[in-house]
Amino acid sequence: MAQRVIVTGGAGYIGSHCVKRLGKLGYHILTIDNLSNGNKWAVLSGELKVVDLADTVTVKEIISSFNPHAVIHFAASIIVPESLQNPIKYYKNNTENSLNLLKILSELNIKNFIFSSTAAVYGIPEIVPVTEDAPLNPINPYGRSKMMTELIIQDISNAYGLKYTSLRYFNVAGADPEGKLGQAYRESTHLITRALKTAKGEFPYLEIYGTDYQTPDGTCIRDYIHVSDLAEAHIVALNSLLNNGESDVFNCGYGHGYSVKEVISVAKKVTGIDFKVIESDRRPGDPPQLIADCSKIKKKLNWQPRYNDLEFIIKTAWEWEKKR
Ligand code: UDP
Repeated sequence: MAQRVIVTGGAGYIGSHCVKRLGKLGYHILTIDNLSNGNKWAVLSGELKVVDLADTVTVKEIISSFNPHAVIHFAASIIVPESLQNPIKYYKNNTENSLNLLKILSELNIKNFIFSSTAAVYGIPEIVPVTEDAPLNPINPYGRSKMMTELIIQDISNAYGLKYTSLRYFNVAGADPEGKLGQAYRESTHLITRALKTAKGEFPYLEIYGTDYQTPDGTCIRDYIHVSDLAEAHIVALNSLLNNGESDVFNCGYGHGYSVKEVISVAKKVTGIDFKVIESDRRPGDPPQLIADCSKIKKKLNWQPRYNDLEFIIKTAWEWEKKR
């Protein structure tokens, strides 16, 4: 019998790549998504229920009748600058909705939970690459909304025996190498998507937010992980939980960082377009450097990334972007 998995946010960018992989592996999948940023066409496997997690009555009915072995919880708002302007949206969508979901799971005695967390929980890390035991000190509402959820999950786990894996994503980028999925959020503010949309002529120029950081070229450094490798991290986490693995927290990145300027130069190389770039002020809420120490997930869950190559990441994103 196939294992049943509920995926919240399965119509979104990362969730849809995970659903595709779960489908290939033969899982029985049900996606719950309000389609605020997701798309029906992106759910390539299983069933989709269009519902908001705030609608707890409907969500409980759906989960109860599907009776999943595990829940993977992607649904969230994820834009750092927006979280500074509209923190209530973030505490509602990310923290409150997660609590609602966890309450339902505890009432229904569903024991396995995988949570989309973020490197933003570390804030400005003192030591880079950052390990999972680094202090949590988020510097924006997005990071705080996710950190609070992590803490709630731990408390619920301690009290009711929920088993969980929190995956702290670094900078997720790229698109399905088979070309079926990719970043489809129109207003995406993420660097690689912005750079490629600028190359396509959708924006007159790309802004570099800050060139006076304490980094070798003055621009921020991030650890960009291919979305399909991240999807695979959920698969290994799920297999571990379903095989009696313990609750744990893992960083998801490659352990290597690239500056904004380096990303732009690879984007120009991949696209063959010398798009316009201007230097602007810092964007509030940006830590200078975020690089994962990813040895824990490799060692404990035997996660084996396949696409650790910035050029490949940007290439897959470009192939996707060109089709849109
Ligand atoms: N960035 C930039 N120009 C843009 C978008 C992003 O210079 O148009 C920078 C941003 O300030 C940060 C890095 O690129 O230092 C990655 O930002 P992104 O929004 O992709 O992800 P985040 O790290 O905020 O999750």
